[in-house]
Amino acid sequence: MYNKISMFGIEINNVSMKESICYIEQLIIEKNNSYIVTPNVDHIVKLQIDRLFKEIYDNASLVLADGVPLIWASKLLGKPLKERVSGADLFPELCEYASKKGYSVFFLGAAEGVAYKAAQILKNKFPGLKIVGTYSPPMGFEKNYEENEKILSMIRDSNPHILFVALGAPKQEIWMYHYRNLTKVPVSIGVGASFDFVAGRIKRAPQFIQKIGLEWFWRFCQEPRRLFKRYFIDDMKFFFLLLCELRKLNSKD
Ligand code: UDP
Repeated sequence: MYNKISMFGIEINNVSMKESICYIEQLIIEKNNSYIVTPNVDHIVKLQIDRLFKEIYDNASLVLADGVPLIWASKLLGKPLKERVSGADLFPELCEYASKKGYSVFFLGAAEGVAYKAAQILKNKFPGLKIVGTYSPPMGFEKNYEENEKILSMIRDSNPHILFVALGAPKQEIWMYHYRNLTKVPVSIGVGASFDFVAGRIKRAPQFIQKIGLEWFWRFCQEPRRLFKRYFIDDMKFFFLLLCELRKLNSKD
């Protein structure tokens, strides 16, 4: 499998979008209840103190660089990642691929009605797409046994090839990790706010803003109350982590 770049205590697959999709198809065929994670700055910061989140990362079948700062960091550290493969880009790309190859998909997560709306939009865009179910669970569902059981049976009964989980980090990763052997879905992917982007609940940053690494700031402007702490307090630790990585690099020379 494609080479991996080690940084910030995790291994990131050095793959393009096209290669990711080819690998995901292999995972579908293997049927090993695999799951995929998409690290950004926020995940990297959380991983350092959350042992379960780190364990989940260590066992993922595919780790895709979601954030532009990770691409910059990899270049600075002399082990460049070839491409950003964000969950928000992968979600519609993979749906298009699934529509051509006949793979079925299930959308789990986001606020009420958002997964359903994203499904309608993608079905119109990719007419062959087999969406076998959508469900946006109520807040706090993960602590509710009956609600969880309901979700598990919905997924088992519809038997999708790919499960997209949009619950934010680390909730979506923890959910996939705990339940992947019960859902028995060949591939589950944590995709954050991707349903919101497709459904138009949140507007995605224009390409040039993404390219200059300011997508986070665009997101912050849309949801300042929710995202202030994430971006301006928690994620600032990333600079310190990057310095540590650079020091490690210099001490090896
Ligand atoms: N969300 C959810 N249930 C929860 C918490 C979050 O469905 O208990 C959804 C939320 O509605 C949003 C997505 O999870 O659609 C998380 O978005 P976030 O901005 O955290 O994701 P990012 O893309 O930044 O990782």
